[in-house]
Amino acid sequence: MKLVFIGKPGSGKGTQAKILSKKLKISHISTGDLFRQSTGEFSKLVHSYIDGGNFVPDDLTIKMLRERILKEDCKNGFIFDGFPRTLPQAEMLEKEIKIDYIIDVHISDEEAIKRMSGRRICKKCGELYNLNTNHIPKKKNMCDKCGGILFKREDQTSEAIKKRIEIHYKEVKPILKKFNPIIINGEQSIDKVTEDILKILE
Ligand code: AMP
Repeated sequence: MKLVFIGKPGSGKGTQAKILSKKLKISHISTGDLFRQSTGEFSKLVHSYIDGGNFVPDDLTIKMLRERILKEDCKNGFIFDGFPRTLPQAEMLEKEIKIDYIIDVHISDEEAIKRMSGRRICKKCGELYNLNTNHIPKKKNMCDKCGGILFKREDQTSEAIKKRIEIHYKEVKPILKKFNPIIINGEQSIDKVTEDILKILE
């Protein structure tokens, strides 16, 4: 099973990809996570784009993704979370990989801004929280799971958020037109969104 999840920043596509990759026993491939987990010169380079709310150039992104899907854990399939985000990436996908379903987890701009500005991540274990939804830490700025300190990602300042939404429209809209994805209402509960996606895959 090979799936692509498309959606605005904050749409919950990452959360859904995580849940569904476990349920379906396939790999969750988030290009954003791969960039954040990178090290050395490559990491410095990609952060010079990410931290300002810009996309990483296509050649770097495509090379990283091609290498990732050759790994053993991708044999049963995968969910792409955050790829493709530009037309050259979409063209590469169309040429090189047969995707079963392309799903757009849709939310409004207002909802995207609200969700993103509330996001916090645990420095220690990576657990995600959101001060503007129902996943609020019990103690202020502290991870419920491991007690680590919560922080806001560099690309989640209000300037970077606005830029990310602008870029989303400019770059992702032509992809939506090209692929005509299945649209899921991302403003429902996490469980209901998962249920809606599973219904499509049945
Ligand atoms: P995400 O975690 O998916 O929100 O991605 C975080 C950031 O990583 C984005 O704002 C981009 O700067 C970069 N990024 C992730 N995926 C891609 C992609 N497919 N193409 C270019 N840049 C990307």
